[in-house]
Amino acid sequence: MRHWWEDAVFYQIYPRSYADSNGDGVLGPSEVLRTLTVYVVDVNLAVANPTRTLLQNFSLNATPLGGALATPTYTYQISNAAATTWYNLPQATSQATWSTEVHVAGLFNVRVQMDVGGTRAISAYAPIEVDFPNVTAIMANATVQAAAAAAWQDTLNATTATTRREEGYYILLDTSTDTFSQTATIIGPTVANDKSGAVSLPKVPNDTGITGSPLDTPIYVVADFHTHTPMTFRTGRRRVGPSSGDATSSNTINLPGIVYDYVQDPDSDPGCIPGGWALAEPAKLYSCGPARRPIPKQ
Ligand SMILES: [Zn+2]
Repeated sequence: MRHWWEDAVFYQIYPRSYADSNGDGVLGPSEVLRTLTVYVVDVNLAVANPTRTLLQNFSLNATPLGGALATPTYTYQISNAAATTWYNLPQATSQATWSTEVHVAGLFNVRVQMDVGGTRAISAYAPIEVDFPNVTAIMANATVQAAAAAAWQDTLNATTATTRREEGYYILLDTSTDTFSQTATIIGPTVANDKSGAVSLPKVPNDTGITGSPLDTPIYVVADFHTHTPMTFRTGRRRVGPSSGDATSSNTINLPGIVYDYVQDPDSDPGCIPGGWALAEPAKLYSCGPARRPIPKQ
């Protein structure tokens, strides 16, 4: 526990009427201490929720402590958790409540600098954590869904009476605009109906736009994606959704895996679709592997 007065700037006013009439610094028997006013200039910072994702805002609330001499102005600041360089958060204003996104995944400290009556006070810092979006939030995004639906349709279109193939890509998040996109589509090998489909994505691409500043706006790789293939021209049955190999692959690269596949046939074995299943049967997004990409080491 740290008390606010341990960080406080004590701003003292000694009125000229201080009643040491002979100036010896000692109050004599007839001298009276009439006025001694002490102003305390300090500020507290509260963070409403110290763990947010790249797509969410932090709410920072500054509260002046002690007597305020004038209307304070506030500057909100951030540093990497392992560093002591402070950066002013973009568009930091004089408002006592400030809502802001941090576009870099990792651990940081935030604080507020208060200027009032010519005196500056700086709050104790508060730790915050910025996480990658979880796979549920990624799958709920309309842009992600549209790209996945297009890949699924492309997979259906490529299916013939004798062959099929999967396709896939990495999903990217541009933190400057909070928009998702994807890397170039990789087409898996064309396989005969007695073989399993697969697609191997290249090595996970590097993030871009990272200089080490907490004010960076990187483009991150946040998930991988691939399609499964129809049973329309096949016999037997197969399970729907991510395979155990899909889960292993996603866990190995530490990225959520997203798979487009058919919804199970309620009349078939649970979790399966049968041979001859029509191309246009309902399909959906599944996930496997980690719920979110872990924050990078700092
Ligand atoms: Zn798969």
